[in-house]
Amino acid sequence: MIRIGIIGCGAAGAFCGANLRRMLPQASLTLFEAAARPMAKLALTGGGRCNLTNSFAGIRSLGQAYPRGEKWMKGLLKGFSQEDTCRWFEERGVRLVLQEDHCWFPASQDAMEIVRTLLKGLEGATIRTACRVSRIGKDLSVELPDGTRPRFDALVVTTGGTPSRFSLLDGLDIPLIAPVPSLFTFTTDAPIRALAGTVAEASVSIPGTSFKAEGPLLVTDWGLSGPAILRLSSYAARYLAEKGWQAPLAIHWLGASEQDTRSQLETLLAAHPRKCLTSVHPEGLTARLWEYLTARCGLRPDLRCDQVGSTTRNKLTDRLLHDTYTITGRNPFKEEFVTCGGVDTAAVDRATLACKTIPGLYFAGEVLDIDAITGGFNLQAAWSSAYRVAESITRRFSTVPR
Ligand SMILES: Cc1cc2nc3c(=O)[nH]c(=O)nc-3n(C[C@H](O)[C@H](O)[C@H](O)COP(=O)(O)OP(=O)(O)OC[C@H]3O[C@@H](n4cnc5c(N)ncnc54)[C@H](O)[C@@H]3O)c2cc1C
Repeated sequence: MIRIGIIGCGAAGAFCGANLRRMLPQASLTLFEAAARPMAKLALTGGGRCNLTNSFAGIRSLGQAYPRGEKWMKGLLKGFSQEDTCRWFEERGVRLVLQEDHCWFPASQDAMEIVRTLLKGLEGATIRTACRVSRIGKDLSVELPDGTRPRFDALVVTTGGTPSRFSLLDGLDIPLIAPVPSLFTFTTDAPIRALAGTVAEASVSIPGTSFKAEGPLLVTDWGLSGPAILRLSSYAARYLAEKGWQAPLAIHWLGASEQDTRSQLETLLAAHPRKCLTSVHPEGLTARLWEYLTARCGLRPDLRCDQVGSTTRNKLTDRLLHDTYTITGRNPFKEEFVTCGGVDTAAVDRATLACKTIPGLYFAGEVLDIDAITGGFNLQAAWSSAYRVAESITRRFSTVPR
């Protein structure tokens, strides 16, 4: 009897297990889950709706979606793509819908449907909940809370990205990339918070670096949020951690080139010469945001458009292009967050996801140093890597004479 153990019954562990049940039904499969329920986090993903993958139509290069692990994802997606994800769940009766923002969800809008589908795929496997593995041995044994140390022929680590969970790898000499948070919102200095509730399509960057992101920006009571900020937090995750989450932030409000911004402003001023500058506003900005920006330029609220001279035009253009604030910290609450860092991919065989130094040990999901921006890309990494591990284990044991 081939004995396979999976540590962690989250997205990657459950998906790996469900595929192993199908590919290698003769194996005995045990999943160890520290929490009281399997896939508790998966049930919360996408605000309880589970954004299970992305069509990838909105990204120009894989690096845009995967700031860490781009090359690995290229190979893993060849083996199990976003289309394969959709097919896998649809074949098991889950109806899916594609949103305008390229994100795939179950039509039921219920993450529990994904959880239930995976649990069905795991039928025949043993799931031991409230069972935290404290240590892995080089002989593929696992140390359990009851003091036992069962051994396996293949062991898959899918414990996710939470930094405290890496201690089970102690003593295995597996190199780790220091884990730091990714996908968080920014707390900022006071001025912009006066605009709480405002949404704008903008581009944000960290001056002095090449980190920049585009998309909807949301001003909150504590600072800045929205897809543009979450993306920037992902691209600059390691840099911001090194800076203690304190850095300058520039907002480019119209997302247009300097020339286009200037000409938009000229057109606006020429179209409404007798009106107050604050009573008109460029397309894409709300009246409230425009009023705030003109005040930030020190302009009188009753200034008419035909009174705006070249110095003021330059000031306004400059403000629209580089409105600078200070990031004072990060706010991980109520938002999706993942970990940047984890098991160094250099320690893992790219073709099989097996540990290079401990035969029979595999990694999948967020425990690896692969992570993505929001939009279903993180779960896709979990599905693709878990599928690869299931295939690798199946191939390994299919060639061993039984
Ligand atoms: C609130 C929130 C919403 C999200 N929404 C989305 C979304 O909509 N789309 C998307 O693509 N991504 C989303 N993500 C990210 C996504 O959930 C993760 O990238 C994904 O769950 C990673 O899967 P995983 O299996 O590697 O890790 P996890 O899902 O974290 O699973 C790891 C499992 O291992 C268990 N475990 C850990 N250590 C041990 C141990 N020593 N012994 C036994 N068990 C252990 C844990 O309890 C856990 O159940 C979201 C994240 C959060 C926090």
